[in-house]
Amino acid sequence: MLETLHRVVQSVNAAGDFREALDIIVDEVAGATQADVCSVYLLETDAAHLRLMATYGLNPEAVGQVRLDLSEGLVGLVAEREESINLDDADQHPRFRYFPETGEEHFHSFLGVPIIHYQSRLGVLVVQRQARDRFNDAEVAFLVTMAAQLAGVIAHARAQGELAGLEGAADAAAALALSGIAGSSGVAMGEGYVSPAQISLRSIPDRRITDTEGEISAFREALADVRADLSGLAERMRDQLPPSEHLLFDVYLQMLDGESLSQRVIDRISEGHWAPFALRQTVAEHARRFEAMEDDYLRERASDLRDVGRRVLAQLLSAGEQAKPLPEKLVLVGEEVSATQLVEIPPERLVGVVSAGGSANSHIAILARALGVPAVMGVRDLPVHGLHGRALIVDGYRGRVEVDAAPGLQAEYERLQREEDELTAELSALATEPACTPDGHGIHLYVNTGLAAEIERALESGCAGVGLHRTEFPFMTRDRFPGEEEQAALYREVLAAFAPLPVTLRTLDVGGDKPLPYFPTHDENPFLGWRGLRMTLDHPEIFLTQLRAMLRASVGYDNLQLMFPMVSRIEEAEQAAALVERARSELAEEGISTAKPRVGAMIEVPAAVYQAESLARRLDFLSIGSNDLAQYLLAVDRNNARVASLYDELHPAVLRAVSEVAAAGERQGKPVSVCGSMAGEPAIAPLLLAMGLEGLSMSSGRLLRVKWVIRTISLAESRGLLSQALECETPAQVRALVNAAMDRHGLGGLIRAGRH
Ligand code: PEP
Ligand code: MG
Repeated sequence: MLETLHRVVQSVNAAGDFREALDIIVDEVAGATQADVCSVYLLETDAAHLRLMATYGLNPEAVGQVRLDLSEGLVGLVAEREESINLDDADQHPRFRYFPETGEEHFHSFLGVPIIHYQSRLGVLVVQRQARDRFNDAEVAFLVTMAAQLAGVIAHARAQGELAGLEGAADAAAALALSGIAGSSGVAMGEGYVSPAQISLRSIPDRRITDTEGEISAFREALADVRADLSGLAERMRDQLPPSEHLLFDVYLQMLDGESLSQRVIDRISEGHWAPFALRQTVAEHARRFEAMEDDYLRERASDLRDVGRRVLAQLLSAGEQAKPLPEKLVLVGEEVSATQLVEIPPERLVGVVSAGGSANSHIAILARALGVPAVMGVRDLPVHGLHGRALIVDGYRGRVEVDAAPGLQAEYERLQREEDELTAELSALATEPACTPDGHGIHLYVNTGLAAEIERALESGCAGVGLHRTEFPFMTRDRFPGEEEQAALYREVLAAFAPLPVTLRTLDVGGDKPLPYFPTHDENPFLGWRGLRMTLDHPEIFLTQLRAMLRASVGYDNLQLMFPMVSRIEEAEQAAALVERARSELAEEGISTAKPRVGAMIEVPAAVYQAESLARRLDFLSIGSNDLAQYLLAVDRNNARVASLYDELHPAVLRAVSEVAAAGERQGKPVSVCGSMAGEPAIAPLLLAMGLEGLSMSSGRLLRVKWVIRTISLAESRGLLSQALECETPAQVRALVNAAMDRHGLGGLIRAGRH
């Protein structure tokens, strides 16, 4: 059964379109369960009717015609109850209903399983047999597994607009609202842009064209370009690859030259399809043929063919794109938007980000916040390619994306954007005011930085310095480790811009969700693996280069603080601090004398919470990385959209951990700050202030809002709030408490502590 399942999944992935995928599923499932009938019914957009969408065994003309209410028939019952039903005498069941168009009177045994995707009902998968014998346990298990796989296929197809017309749904070009996770707050309006390299063959929708000649010549050109690229590559690799591996290039080139592939694509274009879709269908058709072959070697060629197809597609799409300038207001859309893609877009054009993967605490969301760009993350079944060129509204408060919104909605968002601008303008007067409560308690508000582009904004915010400078981005956007000089120049830029204010440079924190393309770690579980300080301690040559660059950059400014990420043992912090001293003495020997920087550890791992006092005793300061701390305390991957609703920095466990670290620092007389995203949540600020933290470090766009709250709520009131919050047992109770406080002071509206 498992083998069948694999085969079905493979063929479905290779299917030219959704209808074909459904036909493959019903045929294969009928075969595997030896059923006389296998059918798929899908829930219509009104959520009240099911429609027969594919069948093996029933009258094929009934497809698309048979439509039943959820309260009708056994199929309706399966959907209604969201439970499987397995009967040997279906026609005796009180809910049995006979649909004459299907010709199903002879079938006695019935097994129906619901198709459910992330709690939402999509349809029913049914098998039937003439004989009166129940389907056995293995068959039921198979069908349930198949339905779970099918759910993903259907959800994807629906998001791509492939169900349009089939189920009376709105067509792909109509207005659409997508939900995800709020990644960076604010509202942005712009044109969707998908980088050609991001587009997969499967996500290509059908489009009709009239200029078939133009389309055919564009296809021929793309083919020739890919051919030229590949033969150039083959030449360059001739001496570097063993002959057996090098043969692959010949295979690729033969595929490109093969008449049958290009002729089929051209035939399809002549029928009026645009080239990318014609290519998609042809590659799927050929790949299926390879996959059906007995010979292992030939079967493997299916994936080569898809690879060739992807290359031609990228060429086709980018040739089309090159002719067009980038949109003035560009919303970057992608399956998994990366830091590299983000920084490639000219900052003056980038207005928003929409990503199918990731969540509010992914580094890409953090980068978007740093740039002040609204972002929506974790949009399941994002119709990536379908959003290219469409008018998008990115609602970074609620995690929604409106596609081609109606004018009324558009006006509403414009109003929100205006209010937001007004608030920002009003708050800008606070930049020069102290971050001090009405009863005279001050706290330092620092900024988090990581890109040179952020420095100006950060300086305008009136911050007290940099509480966290993430150094990894220049490492991620290069194709090798940057050298000492190169790094020193980067660090000097930040140290100089903020001097005499302190700048906390964090040592390299790669691994986890920040892999280096030129230094792969191959961790099965990267967040629990070779990450942050663990990696740099294992590579003193990399670490010392960075430390030397940081120290050299500080000469003349003397405002450098150093901080280590991902500390989970005391020895790590000690070793790292010793390496700082080693770097200083090496430099001194070379005649470069540097001031002793203040050195601190990030508290990001539960172990460090329990050893915070020991760390504080040995170091100059602690900084709580609440993004990772929440991830590790709650055992919720900060990047995984599926569990994003469980990630919550207002979880009582997170609050208690932060408060204990603050107390540990106080006992040792060492300052403690927070530099994770919670530091930039205005509604949480009173709680953090009352814990006795020395500073909060956040994206510069959040700083004045946090200051606004601090200047409004007294320390005495904040202390009261904190003691109540520490008694709460659920995140919802904490959230209600802080939001009520915001409302009492008229600060509600734009700064309530929302869900991510
Ligand atoms: C954190 O984990 O809270 C933090 C500030 O570090 P990063 O987000 O870069 O992992
Ligand atoms: Mg971290």
